[in-house]
Amino acid sequence: MEKGLLIVLSGPSGVGKGTVCSALRKDMTELVYSVSATTRSPRAGEIDGVNYFFKTREQFQRMIENDDLLEWAEYVGNYYGTPRSFVEETINQGKDIILEIEVQGALKVRSKFPGGIFIFLMPPSLEELQSRIETRGTETDDSIRSRMSTALDELKYLEHYDYAVVNDQVELACERIQAIITAEHHRKDRMLPIIKEMLEKVYSEKQS
Ligand code: 5GP
Repeated sequence: MEKGLLIVLSGPSGVGKGTVCSALRKDMTELVYSVSATTRSPRAGEIDGVNYFFKTREQFQRMIENDDLLEWAEYVGNYYGTPRSFVEETINQGKDIILEIEVQGALKVRSKFPGGIFIFLMPPSLEELQSRIETRGTETDDSIRSRMSTALDELKYLEHYDYAVVNDQVELACERIQAIITAEHHRKDRMLPIIKEMLEKVYSEKQS
C-alpha cells in the first residue's frame, strides 16, 4: 500500500502555527494530527490527549529513554516531543499526518524522514510577529521576551525547508498548504509504482 505523507509544519514562535494547523484540520478532515507530549502546564481550555499529552519531567525522561519519541526538543524551559509509534502507524496505513512542531525538532525529523514535506510558516513582517507574541495574552513578560528572541533565531532555519508559506491571512495560508499537499501527492515518484504495476499487468496478459 502507498504510504501516507509526513507533513511537518514549523516556523518561529508566534507565527500562528497552531491557528493555521487547526484551520487546516477543519478543512482537511482526513488529515491526521500528531498530538505531542510536553512538560509545560496546560493552558486554560487545553485537554490532555487532545492538545498535548501533559507529562512530568520524569515521565518525559522515561519516554526519551524508551525511544518512544521520534524527536524531542527543549523549548523556552519545557520539553516537547512527538510520539513515534503513532506517526509510523499512520503513514504505514496510507494516511497523511501533520506534525506542528518547532524548528529544532523539525530538523531531527528531517534526518529520520528525508521524504517528509517540510513547510516553514513565515510572518508577514517582524513587527507583526512581535505583536502576535505580545497579544497572545497567555505569556508573562519574561516568556514574551524569551519567545521573541527564540523566534528571531528560528527564522534562520528556513533554508532547511522545502516550502515557505507566509501567514498573512489564516485562510490564505491554509489554501497554500493544501495546494502543496495536493502537489506532493502527484509527484511522479509516488506514481511510478502504480504505472509499473499497470505495465506488468498488460505484459503478463499479452504473454498468456
Ligand atoms: P506552545 O507551548 O505554544 O504550545 O508550543 C511551543 C512550541 O513548541 C511551538 O513552536 C510548537 O510548535 C512546539 N511544539 C509542539 N509540540 C512539539 C513537539 O512535539 N516537538 C517539538 N520539537 N516542538 C513542539
